[in-house]
Amino acid sequence: MEKETAKETVSKNFIEQIIEKDLAEGKYEEICTRFPPEPNGYLHIGHAKSILLNYGLAQKYNGKFNMRFDDTNPTKEKIEFVESIKEDIKWLGADWEDRLYFASDYFEQMYEAAVKLIKKGKAFVCDLTAEEIREYRGTLTEPGKESPYRNRSAEENLELFEKMRNGEFEDGSKVLRAKIDMASPNINMRDPVIYRVAHMTHHNTGDKWCIYPMYDFAHPIEDAIEGVTHSICTLEFEDHRPLYDWVVTELEYPHPPKQIEFAKLYLTNVVTGKRYIKKLVEDGIVDGWDDPRLVSIAALRRRGFTPESIQKFVELCGVSKANSSVDYAMLEYCIREDLKMKAPRMMAVLDPVKLVIDNYPEGEIEYLEVPNNMENPELGSRKVPFGRELYIEREDFMEVPVKKYKRLYPDNEVRLMNAYFVTCTGCEKDEEGNVTVIHCTYDPASKGGNSPDGRKVKGTIHWICAETAVEAECRLYENIVDEEKGVYNKEDGSLNLNPNSLTVVKGCLVEPELGKAEAYDRFQFVRNGFFCADCHDSKPGAPVFNRIVSLKSSFKMNK
Ligand code: ATP
Ligand code: MG
Repeated sequence: MEKETAKETVSKNFIEQIIEKDLAEGKYEEICTRFPPEPNGYLHIGHAKSILLNYGLAQKYNGKFNMRFDDTNPTKEKIEFVESIKEDIKWLGADWEDRLYFASDYFEQMYEAAVKLIKKGKAFVCDLTAEEIREYRGTLTEPGKESPYRNRSAEENLELFEKMRNGEFEDGSKVLRAKIDMASPNINMRDPVIYRVAHMTHHNTGDKWCIYPMYDFAHPIEDAIEGVTHSICTLEFEDHRPLYDWVVTELEYPHPPKQIEFAKLYLTNVVTGKRYIKKLVEDGIVDGWDDPRLVSIAALRRRGFTPESIQKFVELCGVSKANSSVDYAMLEYCIREDLKMKAPRMMAVLDPVKLVIDNYPEGEIEYLEVPNNMENPELGSRKVPFGRELYIEREDFMEVPVKKYKRLYPDNEVRLMNAYFVTCTGCEKDEEGNVTVIHCTYDPASKGGNSPDGRKVKGTIHWICAETAVEAECRLYENIVDEEKGVYNKEDGSLNLNPNSLTVVKGCLVEPELGKAEAYDRFQFVRNGFFCADCHDSKPGAPVFNRIVSLKSSFKMNK
């Protein structure tokens, strides 16, 4: 018990430390976090980190977790993404209860906030063009220049701002800017634009608005309206924090939220950026946003990852202020660990060749009792049919064995997993020399795969009873990008694609039990890896399995 407590103190991350200090000092009575995606694409593994971090903190400190669509930019947003994002977050296990919000529902309040700033002399309408604003902004080494419109009176600004709202100006002709400091060393503080004119239809508010708030102005207001206390975002917003603080201070919110930044999650050899995923989808290189080679949440779900494995992964990654990449193998480790006990262990032959037991009674089928998971008796057992004709993996037979080969070859005895000992007697071949049938004899006394007299066999191979075999398709995956070359092409920034990222294996043979698989059912296929029935293409009687992960890995967890 004592050990547990000690461990917890050590493993507290910097965000938890900030929260505990705020709670101890009575700064907030209860914490509130949020996840604020822009509905402009599907969520990916990086977002999962943010979701589980925000939700986990709310859980840990008995606070609230809000779900908010940050839909203030009408150009790229689509309702399709709103639905997919909700589905993904629910699947991950984060619960926003009844707190589902849309930033666009706050447009009126944001407008009022802007009016408040104008009245305080803290915002002004500016007529400079976008290009002029850029020129006036200065550089990292030189201060900016004040806009000639900076000293308009509050009355004039109020009138112009109202006209902006009423649609009296063209797109780009006027903006509202915060009046802060053109000489600030932080460029974000040099009178940033907070509202722009854009005659665009919004997916939620339709044509009601033709002015839209900028992210840096909108976000702190959204947080403050909802009573968010800790607004957690990624490092690229660090330089925007002074502006965030300026907005909540000038608007005089009684319990202003605070922004905290952490490092984004990057994975090696995968494509996480929404932009790149979108391009792969649009160029038809992958089969939609949920192609199992991607790391969108939808793709991971389709491939067969469990929410628990992703939770574990995010936990292992930890929270930090320094950017770094996590090895994809760690994600694989997490799913293997999760499925090891949960998934039934079944037999499937991916590259079948026939095996005939010549001394086994013709026409007879017996049903062998086989445990579903040796390590987890709770999964029970099943009956697996066995007969005179079986299929085994082609690679489990060699007519002329290489050194140290332990599987089937003439005169060698092996165990058919959970069944009998068999001794190879020879094989038949076609004109091209390909093995078509392997012959063997069995020892009836070795039923269950147990040695009848203490004699040992070195190899154990899996098999499928020919008479009851079900044909299946298996899809095997490799990284979508070429590991050797790196994710992005150094010259033009394009992706270095791996031409072998998908292998479709047709004509696999599986146990009858696997023929009944339903979408998302997960199994361990002996020796071949963990597989999941594909949610789009798998049908009872004609199953299609995605390989989630192979069984072995070079990855070792440091414990
Ligand atoms: P992308 O860069 O993939 O396009 P985004 O940051 O534009 O993602 P948003 O919808 O704006 O996507 O992000 C919602 C939240 O998720 C933000 O708080 C953002 O900081 C966080 N987030 C995005 N990518 C990652 C990542 N790789 N790791 C952790 N958090 C992330
Ligand atoms: Mg974004």
